[in-house]
Amino acid sequence: MNKAITLPIKVEITPENKCGFCTNSTCCTYLTQHLDTPRSMEDFDTLLWQVAHHNTQAYKDEDGWFLLVNNRCGHLQDDGRCAIYETRPRICREHSNDGCEFEGPAGAEDFDLYFPDYASLLRYCRKKFRNWDRRLKKKA
Ligand code: SF4
Ligand code: SF4
Repeated sequence: MNKAITLPIKVEITPENKCGFCTNSTCCTYLTQHLDTPRSMEDFDTLLWQVAHHNTQAYKDEDGWFLLVNNRCGHLQDDGRCAIYETRPRICREHSNDGCEFEGPAGAEDFDLYFPDYASLLRYCRKKFRNWDRRLKKKA
């Protein structure tokens, strides 16, 4: 019986062909929104409200503070292609695949500060502001 043999072919991944090998298209499954740097208890209280929402996180890196919403784009098709590729928004056109999620998902090690959920941000607030838990009584 003849047996089909699959020869391993080593393909060099380049910036030009990288997206063609990407099956997850992770860059189309979230959005980020730059935030004014939160400073006051009121700012952090607002940020807590934001990360209380499902699939919403916050982080800080060398570019500042961001909201991270893990929600796939409505134009991302099941095969990983963009349904409006020719007319996709500018931000998609300018997105660089240099160091993107193709190399692995982003995690805490990619950020200066990372708040994946309400509880992690609440812990941070309590550490940052000694009177955090008294802030609501003060207002009342
Ligand atoms: S930019 Fe990265 S994550 Fe997005 S499709 Fe290309 S390789 Fe995949
Ligand atoms: S418009 Fe297309 S390229 Fe842009 S995020 Fe949506 S699926 Fe991705």
